[in-house]
Amino acid sequence: MERSEIIIGGDTAGIEWRVPVFRFKGSDSAAPSAYIQAALHANELPGTALLHFLLERLRTAEAEGAIRGDITVVPQANPIGLAQYHFGEMEGRFDLGSRTNFNRDFPLVALAGRDTLLEKLESRSAADRLKRTLLHTALGADLVLDLHCDDESLQYAYIDDAFWPEAADLASALDMEAVFLSDGESTAFEEAVGHAFKHQGGDKLKTVPGRLAVTVELRGRRDVYPDMARRDADGLWAFLAGRGVIADPAHEAKPYAGPAVPLDNIEMVKAPEPGTVLFHRDIGDEVKAGDVLATLIVRPGEPGGTLAVMAGHDGLIATRCSARHARRGDDLMKIACREATRRDRKPGTLED
Ligand SMILES: [Zn+2]
Repeated sequence: MERSEIIIGGDTAGIEWRVPVFRFKGSDSAAPSAYIQAALHANELPGTALLHFLLERLRTAEAEGAIRGDITVVPQANPIGLAQYHFGEMEGRFDLGSRTNFNRDFPLVALAGRDTLLEKLESRSAADRLKRTLLHTALGADLVLDLHCDDESLQYAYIDDAFWPEAADLASALDMEAVFLSDGESTAFEEAVGHAFKHQGGDKLKTVPGRLAVTVELRGRRDVYPDMARRDADGLWAFLAGRGVIADPAHEAKPYAGPAVPLDNIEMVKAPEPGTVLFHRDIGDEVKAGDVLATLIVRPGEPGGTLAVMAGHDGLIATRCSARHARRGDDLMKIACREATRRDRKPGTLED
């Protein structure tokens, strides 16, 4: 294993960010290569815990000669966000200096244009430099996994149509309870990787066998526990073994039995008025259209001061917000439904 660091100069004098990168050299040049990063949203730490334990297994595998394809692991991808503590809380999702989401505004380049990502790097902001360097590193691999988490959530992933159903092996290895099939592209990390994989010269590819770009949502932000992280590390290990990146004769593939739903089928349940949130239903619950999901106390203490929030469609509650006060329009839940719930969605993942 080789440990190196991506070094990013800060936007003001005297600051330097360091991102550790772990590389394992594969023994078989024909085996697929993998790139896995966590905590690009710096406050989403289940992936960092997972990769800590996966790296332990990979070091043992290396000593046993079981690494077949090149593997690059960045367990804590965003030191800039990690350092943004304000009033006792980390703001790891948005760059405070520019107010941009750390997982948006990745440049969309064709695979052949990979090296253009590093042009004029010294004149770019630290956050932009970080994004370009991570994307450039990722595009050297065949299989790219970006580990995130939701607020309160089941295990699920955003997977582009171009990689489905081949990627069902990842969903089964990580015991996912749902897969959200995305179609269009915004500028998230995974979408920039997918864009490059689909643009390899000539026409845009509809499917890209042997490649993968995925955003994995490892449950909720507080789901950071040793047993869970080890189990998820074992899951990723199984995925890598199934794809031939590592050799594991004991590996047995199992089918994915959970739902895979297009993003148009995801009902985003919003708070129609501001209020204190009393949830009646939890993640993992199957609900019917008309079921009461939450009561909002919109005028505390007044007769009729509450408002019921109901499910619009039958489906599975995949995520729930952890805050117990909602502003008007705030997202309360995502429900994976069996039918399309809307037609006005912008391309790409569901939230900023
Ligand atoms: Zn995230």
